[in-house]
Amino acid sequence: MQCQTVLAGTECTFWKKAGCAAEGGSCKVIVEECQGCERIATGSIGEVCTSFPDPKLKWRAGLCNFATHRKVDAKVDDIRINPLKAAKRAAASRKK
Ligand code: SF4
Repeated sequence: MQCQTVLAGTECTFWKKAGCAAEGGSCKVIVEECQGCERIATGSIGEVCTSFPDPKLKWRAGLCNFATHRKVDAKVDDIRINPLKAAKRAAASRKK
């Protein structure tokens, strides 16, 4: 349904027949970590996220999984490889 308050006219999954289903009944403004994200829109209360109503919660446990401006840097050394599975995969590819 379309939002009727903060981002009036915008499709939003949190807007229900009874109104905004987000915590507190409204979106919250973005946090500093959001700066540069493509999901920011200007609403009636300021800059808000178009994907999640409370950006502060998205950053509480680390990187926001919806963020378009920052990604997790996975190092090759950090990726664990099961040697048994790797050997099976290698053997299977040799048979082909
Ligand atoms: S997607 Fe994440 S980083 Fe982007 S504006 Fe929303 S909460 Fe902020």
